[in-house]
Amino acid sequence: MTTDSVRCPDCGAVVPDVPELRTGHTYIGGVAGCWAAYTELMGRQFSDPRLAGVHMLAVDVYMAQHPGTPGRQAAQSAWVHLVGLCLVLEHGFDVVMSARAKARVAAPDATFEWLAPPASLGPVTVLDVLAAPDAGGAAAVRCWAESVWAAWSPYHAAIRGRAAELLAAAS
Ligand SMILES: [Zn+2]
Repeated sequence: MTTDSVRCPDCGAVVPDVPELRTGHTYIGGVAGCWAAYTELMGRQFSDPRLAGVHMLAVDVYMAQHPGTPGRQAAQSAWVHLVGLCLVLEHGFDVVMSARAKARVAAPDATFEWLAPPASLGPVTVLDVLAAPDAGGAAAVRCWAESVWAAWSPYHAAIRGRAAELLAAAS
């Protein structure tokens, strides 16, 4: 690591130490260089119609891997995106179905306990996704999603419970 690099405290990616550029989304964790890599991934997925379907999953993965600091907004974000991962990985939801379901997780009267993040949020980072042979494509994002989901295993039961409530309410 050079002095110009910094390790993202959330995902462990070694990224350029760039000035903080974010103005909104202050509840999301991670360092500016990691966010910049994420922004690059988003840009790539938006500019390639073949990657449109994996974009929403990538959002869930990044947010679940950068849960931020305790607070209502961060707690809600973690829950919504983790339920999203559960629906896609364990229930075979596509991104449209997942987005609809997630909108219901964040109901105005819902409460969200803070999920203290596991020590590691998985070995795969946004940098690996960008460097993968399919460069931000479905296979790389899926691998990243599975890695982050596995890292949250202490909370799988609780997250699956919330996903099940959601599915029951929808039927
Ligand atoms: Zn990061």
